[in-house]
Amino acid sequence: MRFDLTPEQRLFKEEVETFLRTHLPAAVAAKVKRGAAVSKAELTDWTRTLDAKGWAAPAWPVEHGGTGWNLIQRHLFDVACRAAHAPALSGFGFNMVGPAIIKFGTPQQQAEFLPKILHADLWFCQGYSEPQAGSDLASVRTRADKDGDDYVVNGSKIWTSGAELADWIFCLVRTNHEVQQQKGISFLLLDITSPGVTVKPLYAFNGKRLWNQVFFEDVRVPIAQRLGDEDRGWTVAKSLLGDERLMVSRVSETKRMLGLLKDALQEQAERGVMLPESLQNEVDALEIRLHALEMTSLRILTEADAGAQIGAEPSMLKLKGSELVQAQDELLFRIVDYLALPQDSTNTGAAAVNPAWAEFVASGRYHHRGYTIAGGSSEVQHNIIAKQVLGL
Ligand SMILES: Cc1cc2nc3c(=O)[nH]c(=O)nc-3n(C[C@H](O)[C@H](O)[C@H](O)COP(=O)(O)OP(=O)(O)OC[C@H]3O[C@@H](n4cnc5c(N)ncnc54)[C@H](O)[C@@H]3O)c2cc1C
Repeated sequence: MRFDLTPEQRLFKEEVETFLRTHLPAAVAAKVKRGAAVSKAELTDWTRTLDAKGWAAPAWPVEHGGTGWNLIQRHLFDVACRAAHAPALSGFGFNMVGPAIIKFGTPQQQAEFLPKILHADLWFCQGYSEPQAGSDLASVRTRADKDGDDYVVNGSKIWTSGAELADWIFCLVRTNHEVQQQKGISFLLLDITSPGVTVKPLYAFNGKRLWNQVFFEDVRVPIAQRLGDEDRGWTVAKSLLGDERLMVSRVSETKRMLGLLKDALQEQAERGVMLPESLQNEVDALEIRLHALEMTSLRILTEADAGAQIGAEPSMLKLKGSELVQAQDELLFRIVDYLALPQDSTNTGAAAVNPAWAEFVASGRYHHRGYTIAGGSSEVQHNIIAKQVLGL
C-alpha cells in the first residue's frame, strides 16, 4: 500500500512540528529521550502549553475543548510529538475518562470535570483490575451499596498505574449481585483522598513504582458521581476506549525508538566499539516491520475516518505493536551492551563512563515487558483475532 500525505496533511504536520520546536522545553525533551522520569509539574506545564494552543485533547470534540481532528490527524500529531520526545499526556484523563464523560456524563459532570482535565488541574487513574479480575474484568467484586444519597464502596483495585499522582480514580464497581455479571456493574468517579481510601505502592522489577493497590473501606461516594446509569457501567467501560481502540499500534513510539536505536549504533561506532555488522541488518529488519505496521494502521484509520465500522482488526495492531517495541528493546539492549550496567565508582574513584543515552535502556526494557499484558494480554488478543477476524 502507498500512503502519501495530502497537501493539507503535510501543512498540518509542519504546523505541529514548528509548534513543538518552539514550545517544547528542551530539558523535558532531553529527559524523555533518555527514558528518565518527567515530573508531575513538568507534565502539568506541558499539558497547559498544549491546552493554550487548543491541542491538549485530540480525541475530544471542539465543543468540549478538543481539537475535533480526524484519526489520521491524530496519528500525525502523535508521531510528531513522539519524534520530538514530547511527554505523553495523561491517557487516563484525555483518552479514557474524558471521552466517557463527554458521552455519558450529565451537563454538571461535564462542566465539573472536563475543564479541569484539560488544564491538568485534576488527574485521574483507572480502577478496573482487581486481584481476582483482570482479563475476566466482568467478575469485579468491589461493591457499592446504596445508603441514602451515597454509595458505600468496599473492596480493592490492583495494578493501578499513577494512583500516587492522581486526585481521582474512575472505578468499575458491583451494584447488583442478582443479575448476570456484566449487567450488575456501575461506573463511579471517586475522589482518591476520600476517607477510607488507602493507596499502597507496587514496584516493578526495574525498581520503579509502576502500580499501586488501592483499598476501599466504607468509602462514601455521592450517587451523583456515577457516570451513566446504575448497573450499566459495562457499557461505559466498553465505550470508554472508543476510537482509542484504534490507536493501539504504538507506531509513534516505535518510530521514536527506531531513531534511538540508530543513534545508539552510531554513538557506539564513534566510541570505537566493535559491534557485529549484522546489527545494522537487524535494525533494517525492524524498520521493515515498523513500516508494515504503520501501513496497516493507516489503512484502518483511513477506513474509519471514511465511516467504516472497524471490527476486531485493531487487536492485530495491539499485538504486533507491543511485540515490535519489545524486539526494539532487545536490540537496543544488545547495542548498548555493558553500558547498560549500573556503575559503582565508589571503590575505584573512576569517573562514570556511561553516556547519558545508555542510562535507562535496561529499565525501559523491563518496563515495556508489561505492554504484552496492559490493555488486554497477547493471549486474549490472539483469542479475539482467532474468533472475530479469522472466524475460527
Ligand atoms: C504496565 C501495566 C499497567 C497497568 N495499569 C493498569 C491500570 O492503570 N488500571 C487497571 O485497572 N489495570 C492496569 N493493569 C492491569 C491489566 O489490565 C491486567 O494485568 C490485565 O487485564 C491482565 O489481567 P491479570 O493481570 O489479572 O491477568 P489474568 O487475566 O489473570 O491472566 C493471567 C494469564 O492468563 C492469560 N489468560 C487470561 N485469560 C485467558 C484466556 N481467556 N485465554 C488464554 N489466556 C488467558 C493471560 O494472557 C495471562 O498470561 C496494568 C497492567 C500492566 C502490565
